[in-house]
Amino acid sequence: MKIEKNHVVRFHYTVSEPGQPPVETSKDREPLAVLIGHGNIIPGLENAMLDHVAGDSFEATVESDQAYGERQEGLVQRVPKKHFRETRLQPGQQVVLNSSSGPRAVTVVKVGGTVVDVDLNHPMAGKTLQFQVEIVDVRAAQQVEIDHGHVHGEGGAQH
Ligand code: ZN
Repeated sequence: MKIEKNHVVRFHYTVSEPGQPPVETSKDREPLAVLIGHGNIIPGLENAMLDHVAGDSFEATVESDQAYGERQEGLVQRVPKKHFRETRLQPGQQVVLNSSSGPRAVTVVKVGGTVVDVDLNHPMAGKTLQFQVEIVDVRAAQQVEIDHGHVHGEGGAQH
């Protein structure tokens, strides 16, 4: 079965900046499950997956405008330290902050006594990304998954 819109794909990925060591991989956990055609993953990676089948391994280079967008200036915000789970924070460190719109990856800019300045740009904003992808399996989505716009069951929402 080829990957197309309204199919559910489970895959492993490793992502790096070109020529750099990997920044993230799914190899140490369960494969990621996504519903194709519903904005579940960055557009460049989704496009690269189309027409592949289970068992395929491939590389994809995704420009920033098809990944996490350009970096924006003025996205540094001061946040009380108590909002961080981590006890030791360092400039340059990437942490996940619970914001009103859900968890958000941010980069620590400056650490003060009671507050921390963080850059709200996605850590991968403005970057070209190199993906190594292995397609684990592909199936047609259930109607309820298409209605909800996400995967249910293994690797997806449990409801
Ligand atoms: Zn759902």
